[in-house]
Amino acid sequence: MHGSLVGSPRRPQHIRSKAIFDTACCSRLSGELSLDKTYLYPSPAQRLSLEETLETCRRWYNTCLAERKEAWEKEHRDVGKYEQLRQVKEYRRQNEYAGRLHSHLLQVVVQDLDKAFCAFFQRVKKGETPGYPRYKGQHRFDSFGLKEYGNGFKVDGRRLKLSGVGRIRVRWHRPLEGKVKTVRICRQAGKWSACFACEVEEKPLPSTGKAVGIDVGVQHLLATSEGEVIENPRWYSCEQKQLRVLQRRVSRRKLGGSNRRKAVSALQRQHEHIANQRKDFLNKVAHSLIVRYDRIVLEDLHIQGMVRNRHLTKSILDAGWGTLKRRLVDKAAEAGRQVILVHPAYTSKTCSSCGAVWEDLTRADRWVECACGLSMERDVNAAMNILWVGQAHWGKSTAIGLRLPQEATPL
Ligand SMILES: [Zn+2]
Repeated sequence: MHGSLVGSPRRPQHIRSKAIFDTACCSRLSGELSLDKTYLYPSPAQRLSLEETLETCRRWYNTCLAERKEAWEKEHRDVGKYEQLRQVKEYRRQNEYAGRLHSHLLQVVVQDLDKAFCAFFQRVKKGETPGYPRYKGQHRFDSFGLKEYGNGFKVDGRRLKLSGVGRIRVRWHRPLEGKVKTVRICRQAGKWSACFACEVEEKPLPSTGKAVGIDVGVQHLLATSEGEVIENPRWYSCEQKQLRVLQRRVSRRKLGGSNRRKAVSALQRQHEHIANQRKDFLNKVAHSLIVRYDRIVLEDLHIQGMVRNRHLTKSILDAGWGTLKRRLVDKAAEAGRQVILVHPAYTSKTCSSCGAVWEDLTRADRWVECACGLSMERDVNAAMNILWVGQAHWGKSTAIGLRLPQEATPL
């Protein structure tokens, strides 16, 4: 993949291309699963059983974590996923609460813990701050899952039938598409929801023959190589005031009191509201791009690294770049489109027309002008460079009518 770029004569030398993945890899990443979240409306009795199920799962999680931790500390022995999966049966015999649960619930807990450990080892390997998997306190464990439709859960009429809980009322927004594989029941801000993972068939969209490069920024949410600029909605900043009021209310209430609990839940609802607004907006942006373009080239930004830059933090998280990227990749897999990630180095400092490099360009410069006559918004120029790097990958640079940069000549 990388090889095709080396030695391409028209490529400005300062633009490098890195990880590239197309729909084939994307579908592997997202598993061709579509996730659909629906709210549950359990009766008071059902709510109790849900809470109880969650609590039993939490204890089992902590038990498994303790076993892994002790085995390692005392005997330097790794306890694997399969070893713990085999213990589920015994645990259900010993523990009266666990005995009442579907065995899949406890097995999924073991899988979740294993995922946490895999992520931990991954971080150690990459040299990041490892962050050992934690024991989960009562308010830090908020979901459990089932892994086989018809075995522990199924849709029964308009309700969701859950083993040990009963038939729960559901607000369906749309019929479930495809084949339901798994479900995850979540508690968030005092509300219960179910997230179904369904296997859906690809629904290729009609080809448009167009490609686009996208530059994500702080000033704008994104700029495309066709000159379209989508502004940052910045709800978070707008709703910040309300958030501050609610946060203050929490800190003024007595610790452990019921008024504090109420204030906390109001705060959580506000956070959720903002998250929902953001998600909705990003989904719409992703959809409009997927519909219009066959190929989308994005920068492969290291969001975690950038968030560490104190001055940029809030607007970057606010813009939800990571979410947008994920949405694009998922939707592309579903619609048979291609998403290409390229290395962002020098994309904003290079002229998209002649390949000249402006070493003295600062973050404050919003407009770029070049000796070759190019004059345009900085982010749009960057988006064109990004598209350009992507094109080198698929080797159809002339097909979409972009001016081709000449050999890079620094000013
Ligand atoms: Zn130029």
